[in-house]
Amino acid sequence: MPTTPAYAATSATSPLAPFTIERREPRAGEVQIDILYCGVCHSDIHQARDEWGGSIFPMVPGHEIVGRVARLGDAAQRFKVGDIVGVGCFVDSCRACAHCRAGEEQFCDVGMVATYNSRERDSGAPTYGGYSTRITVDEKYVLRIPDGIPLERAAPLLCAGITTYSPLRRFGVKAGDEVAVVGLGGLGHMAVKFAVAMGAQVTVLSTSENKRADALALGAHHFAATRDTDTFKQLAGRFDFIVDSVSAPHDYNAYLGLLKVDGTMILLGVPVEPSPVAAGALIMRRRRLAGSLIGGIRETQEMLDFCAEHGIASDVEVIAIDQINTAYDRMLKGDVHYRFVIDSASFGQAG
Ligand code: NAP
Ligand code: ZN
Ligand code: ZN
Repeated sequence: MPTTPAYAATSATSPLAPFTIERREPRAGEVQIDILYCGVCHSDIHQARDEWGGSIFPMVPGHEIVGRVARLGDAAQRFKVGDIVGVGCFVDSCRACAHCRAGEEQFCDVGMVATYNSRERDSGAPTYGGYSTRITVDEKYVLRIPDGIPLERAAPLLCAGITTYSPLRRFGVKAGDEVAVVGLGGLGHMAVKFAVAMGAQVTVLSTSENKRADALALGAHHFAATRDTDTFKQLAGRFDFIVDSVSAPHDYNAYLGLLKVDGTMILLGVPVEPSPVAAGALIMRRRRLAGSLIGGIRETQEMLDFCAEHGIASDVEVIAIDQINTAYDRMLKGDVHYRFVIDSASFGQAG
């Protein structure tokens, strides 16, 4: 059981601090990965602060992991030592239900085993995430990182990437569609890149006027400030799709008014408080309100390959692990450009 340095929240109100965990030796079909980079997702904050309830402490967050295969368990065949691989939001599922068999493990009937803040299926031991220097995972839940994507810029693809790619594909976004992306953070900036690559006309709707130039540099065709109420009059009925990645409560009805007849608003952000939806906002234009949860292993690999093919990667600010609490504070203020990524070398002497 190699001892591994990590950072953990020990309660919903304590900042993250150094912590030591044990990672198991790889068992049959498993690989042990030396973590190189781990992205910082807003879901890490929600869970470390127990905003969704049921958090397991101490918690080592992190589900945007890129690393190098260090050791193979017996019968592990998909990777060899030295391969560059990724681990996303889950590390196991029942493997037998209809959703697992369909490659949509995130909807496993028994429940996926999340990369952290979850429990192993066999032992019930808590899972610990990527704010650490190594992890042991069944190879079926490990992704291959294609050549050509800088590794620190690949890490956020494992959650922010698949979470935005999957609904754009599932709901059939195509060339010429008018797509709005609400909230330009980790998820939002990936949604812009994917929607642009799929040929859509993309508008960023943001509370941060100072992100206008970045939005256009990311490839968006238009930018509108949502603190300006005129925006909601000017853009009424404009969009085929709205991808909502906002982490805080906001008025869904105002955004629904921006959809065309038959338009679809896809919720990705998980604010703590529920927000009321007026039936009329949907009925009057036969609009749809939908949600989407990360993506399965097969589709995550498809997304990574799509990124390599289209030259897509996350825009990141690399941090040392001891800057993690400051990074959380900045994300809560919307001051993220556009994903913090932890350089695992900053843990110092790995155990
Ligand atoms: P993030 O990087 O912090 O970005 C969130 C963005 O939302 C901010 O940059 C800001 O953009 C906007 N925002 C924040 N507070 C706001 C407010 N009060 N009013 C309006 N806009 C506000 O977060 P993220 O990592 O992209 O995650 C976003 C949400 O998605 C979180 O709730 C997270 O838990 C959830 N999530 C869901 C899935 C899924 O599978 N569905 C997967 C991963 C994450 P502007 O400055 O542009 O306004
Ligand atoms: Zn995430
Ligand atoms: Zn299942």
